[in-house]
Amino acid sequence: MKSKRSSAEILFLILFYPILLSFYLIYKYPTWFVSADKVASTFYWFHMSTSFWYATAYTAVVCSIAGWVVWRGKTPYGKDKNKPLSPYQRKKFASIFVAQLVFFYLVPYILPLILHHHSLFTDSYEPVNKNAYVYVYNGFTSLGGFAYIFVVVPVSVWFFGKRYCSWFCACGNLAEVIGITPWGNRWVTERTPRGPTARKWEALQYIVLGFAVAFGIVLFLQTWKVISAPNLVTALRQFQDLAIDLIFGALVGLGAYPLLGTRMWCRYGCPLAAGMRLYGKYAKSQFQVVANDGCKGLNLCTTQCPMGIDVASYAHENGVATQGQFGLQNSPCIGCGGCIDICPVQALSFKKILGGTS
Ligand code: SF4
Ligand code: SF4
Repeated sequence: MKSKRSSAEILFLILFYPILLSFYLIYKYPTWFVSADKVASTFYWFHMSTSFWYATAYTAVVCSIAGWVVWRGKTPYGKDKNKPLSPYQRKKFASIFVAQLVFFYLVPYILPLILHHHSLFTDSYEPVNKNAYVYVYNGFTSLGGFAYIFVVVPVSVWFFGKRYCSWFCACGNLAEVIGITPWGNRWVTERTPRGPTARKWEALQYIVLGFAVAFGIVLFLQTWKVISAPNLVTALRQFQDLAIDLIFGALVGLGAYPLLGTRMWCRYGCPLAAGMRLYGKYAKSQFQVVANDGCKGLNLCTTQCPMGIDVASYAHENGVATQGQFGLQNSPCIGCGGCIDICPVQALSFKKILGGTS
């Protein structure tokens, strides 16, 4: 049953949307507001760009919550707040902390400052990093992008399923940490769309993937001068930037946290997730969530799943344990482990891979 929002939460929501929208638009599209030569004098704060401050605030939120979970050593899932943090969750939140701090902040934002001998807060400088790692078309534009999208990610999917989404990705990092805060957990458990219709809509993600691949091929052909279609490239890029990145990724993806849970973008929009799911399904990824004979039919696992998976349907039928299992063949599971940790009778686990702990 959905609980009522408190006045503090309503106030937060009223402030949240205009702040998010303004900050994001200034961050990504400052020239919509002022001419290019005025961006630095208008939108730089203490000599650093809005993009830098957006990344700083984002990283501060992610790392403080992830670090707090690891430091406190108690599970963030379920009502028993004194239950020790499982080794899996300790590793997951430590990975989120390190990935966010190192790969999505220090390397793209601080390292360029050091390399260009700029000092913080004194010389105006914008270490630009507006290249999202989840847009598959990047795999067609550089050798590094190709290796990342077509080698590193698939190898990781074969072994670990879509844990990339709950252990590493910058978008997923925020979803994971917000999803364990008191409000965020309520958004996940009470507002995440579930059921057959919600599941059917996941096909939308394959359309976004189709667009990303088509865009990637056009960029590739253009780069190698097989075609010359600057207008087509501009039109596709504008569609990508506005319809997919701004509207779907930021406004709906992030803005829908309080309304539809933390994984709207990851479930319905992200092209990389669609690619991982297809690859995992047809390459027979080893990743599986397995139910044992201990299930008591409590259904807490289903409620906790941010991806709307009916986990309990694999674990029991009318309260009788069925010992089922699922992976990328039949679900968009991101391996967050919330369903496993919340189960008070330890009826769920990840399948062990290559004899190691999973
Ligand atoms: S679904 Fe996409 S955006 Fe979400 S965590 Fe996975 S890779 Fe990142
Ligand atoms: S099924 Fe479990 S591990 Fe997979 S996404 Fe849902 S809660 Fe996370």
